[in-house]
Amino acid sequence: MRARSLTPAIKAKRTPLIIERDYPDGAEFTCCYCEQRFISGHPRWKKTWEHLDNHRENEELSNLKWAHKYCNIKKKTFTDYQIMAREFIKKNQEWQNAFDFEEFLRERKIKQPTEEQTEIELNTAHVQKTVEFLAEKITDEEPEYPLDDAIYCITARCRKETGHGSSQASRNYIKELCCSEGLYKIEKKRGKNYIVRRNAL
Ligand SMILES: [Zn+2]
Repeated sequence: MRARSLTPAIKAKRTPLIIERDYPDGAEFTCCYCEQRFISGHPRWKKTWEHLDNHRENEELSNLKWAHKYCNIKKKTFTDYQIMAREFIKKNQEWQNAFDFEEFLRERKIKQPTEEQTEIELNTAHVQKTVEFLAEKITDEEPEYPLDDAIYCITARCRKETGHGSSQASRNYIKELCCSEGLYKIEKKRGKNYIVRRNAL
């Protein structure tokens, strides 16, 4: 029977925990046996998933570590690495007993929001920027503001503060605020579009 290898799903699930356990505080990724760094794509020095107990079907976190392809093969005949592997399993189990998995997952969720959440948050932030910009620029004394400049200013502000922003999106946010129920409207004056405050009824 051919031994199956770790699926991408299992690897994705184990990777953040391996990094947390074996490479804390941004430590460089190195081989668990020789402690030298990995060279991606290299036949000998690329990173492989090491099964410490030599059973490939054992996909438990405590049985997994990262090693060079070369060191992974060398272990089959090299007693020192076999002894190290047994020690690693023990240490990994101890680590797991002490590790707060729930807290880790909670923090990861905060740090890495899903794509969908990020998009909603960005939209909200950008609409907020648009509202602020118009309130700031369109006043009783200055009741109009050129549309094109507003689009580019709002886009620039969004990009500066959130790292995202597009003139198309800014145009849409302005249009929403200038809809027939909005506080503003767009008027053409002297051949140019202006954002104008709607007169209070
Ligand atoms: Zn190595």
